[in-house]
Amino acid sequence: MLNPVFKLYEKDLISLAKTVWSNPEPGFREFISSRAQIDYLLKMGFKVTENAAETQTGYIAEWGSGKPVLAFLGEFDALYGLAQKADCTSPSPIPGQAMGHGCGHHLLGTGAIAGALLLRDLMSAEGLEGTIRIYGCPAEESGSGKAYMARDGLFNDCDAALTWHPSHFNMIATGSSQSCIQCYFRFTGIPAHAAGAPHLGRNALDAVELMNVGVNYLREHMEDSDRVHYAITNPGGSSPNVVQAFAESRYLVRSTTNPKCERLYERVKQIARGAALMTDTKLEIVFDEGLSNTVPNFVLEDVLDAAFHKAGVPAYSLEERKYAAGFKATVPTEDQLSDTPKACKAPDTLEKNILSSELCDYYVETYHSDICEMGSTDVGDVSWVTPTCTANLNCFAYGGGSHSWQWVAQGTSDIAMKGMLKAGEVLAYAGLTLLKQPELLTKARAELNRRLNGESYKCLIPDDVHPHFYD
Ligand SMILES: [Zn+2]
Repeated sequence: MLNPVFKLYEKDLISLAKTVWSNPEPGFREFISSRAQIDYLLKMGFKVTENAAETQTGYIAEWGSGKPVLAFLGEFDALYGLAQKADCTSPSPIPGQAMGHGCGHHLLGTGAIAGALLLRDLMSAEGLEGTIRIYGCPAEESGSGKAYMARDGLFNDCDAALTWHPSHFNMIATGSSQSCIQCYFRFTGIPAHAAGAPHLGRNALDAVELMNVGVNYLREHMEDSDRVHYAITNPGGSSPNVVQAFAESRYLVRSTTNPKCERLYERVKQIARGAALMTDTKLEIVFDEGLSNTVPNFVLEDVLDAAFHKAGVPAYSLEERKYAAGFKATVPTEDQLSDTPKACKAPDTLEKNILSSELCDYYVETYHSDICEMGSTDVGDVSWVTPTCTANLNCFAYGGGSHSWQWVAQGTSDIAMKGMLKAGEVLAYAGLTLLKQPELLTKARAELNRRLNGESYKCLIPDDVHPHFYD
C-alpha cells in the first residue's frame, strides 16, 4: 500500500515521468525534461533556482526553512543508441530517434520529486522544521553534472543527501564506486601521398595505435581494480592512400580513489607523449570529465534500510507478472543469476526468487560494504561533501540490466511507476527519521569525517573546464 498522500500527486508524477521518457535528451541538453520538472515544482510551491553551476538544465528546488537541510538528488538524462518502443519484448528501435531512457532516469528525477512532496506534507502535518531541497542533476551518464555542482559548493550546507536508482532489485546500495577521468588525446601529423611521398608524412593514426599498444602493456602493471577503456573517435579519414594528419582517441581511466586515478591518468598521458615522440606528431590532451569515488555512509544506510522496511515493497498483479515474464524470457537464466548484488546477505534466497519469480518482489537485505564496485557515478562527488546514500527500487523484470533495451521498453509500465512512487516513499520516510532524530545527522557527518581522514573534497575537473556538450 502506498502512502495515501500520493493520491494527490500520483497522476501528475506518472505523467511527468512519461513526458521525460518520451523526450529522451542527452546530458546538459535535457531542456524539455528539466523544464517540465521545474514548472511542476513551481506549481507545487517550491522556490526554484535555475542554471545551477552554469549547467543550463540543472536546478535546485527548495521548500521550508532553516536546518537541517536535506537533499534529494534527481537525474533526467538519457542514453544514445537506445531508442526503443514501449512494451515490446524484442529489440524494436524507433526510426529517427537516437536516445532512450535505458537507465530509468525519467523515473529517478520524478521519484526524487515524489519523495520531496511526501516529506513536505508529512513535515507540515507534524509541524517539523527544516529545508527540503531537490537537486535536478543533469548529465549523469555523460558530463559529470553533480561534479560541477559539488565543485561550485552547492551541496556545502546540506546535512545529508538521499537518492535512489531504478533497479531490478529492492535493496540499499552499499560500497564505493570508482573515481574516473575521461579525456581526448589529439595527435597532429603531416599529410602526404602514402605511396608517392610517405617519407614526407607524419602519421597521426600511427600515434593513436601506438598509444593503444602502450596502454595495453600498461594493463599488466596496474592494480586489479583499475580500468582503462578507449574509443577511437577520429581515425583521420577513410583513405589509406593518404597519411592521416589528424587522429583522436577518447580514454576513460578508472581507479578506486581520486589520488590513484590521477596517478594512473598521468601514466596514460606519459604513454601518449611517447607515442607522439615515436611518430614525430604533436599531442594535445583535452580534459573531458572527472568523477570522484563514492564515500559510503553506514549510518544513512541504516536509516534508508529502516525506511524501506516501513514502506514495504510494491505488490504486483497477475497481469503485471505476465508482462514481466515476457521480458525475463529475453535473457538466459544463467546470465540473470550471475548479475546479482555482491553485498546480498542471503544469496540463496535471491537465487530462489530469480528462479521462481518474474521480478524482484521482496526486500533484498544487504550488509554494509566498503568494497569498490566497478563503475563510476557523479553521486561520488556529492558523497565527499555531505553524507550520502542511495536506495535501489525494483522497476523492471529480471533479465536485462541498466543501459539495456529491456529497461527502455519497460520504462512507462505500471511496474516502473510503482517502483518510482515507492522510491518517493522510502526517501520521505528516511527524511522524516533524520528530521526527528537529528543526532543521526551528527553521526552520519562524523562517519564522513572519519572516512575522509583529514582530506577534503577536491573536484577532479580542472577549474578551467566548464560544463560542455559533445555529440
Ligand atoms: Zn543511472
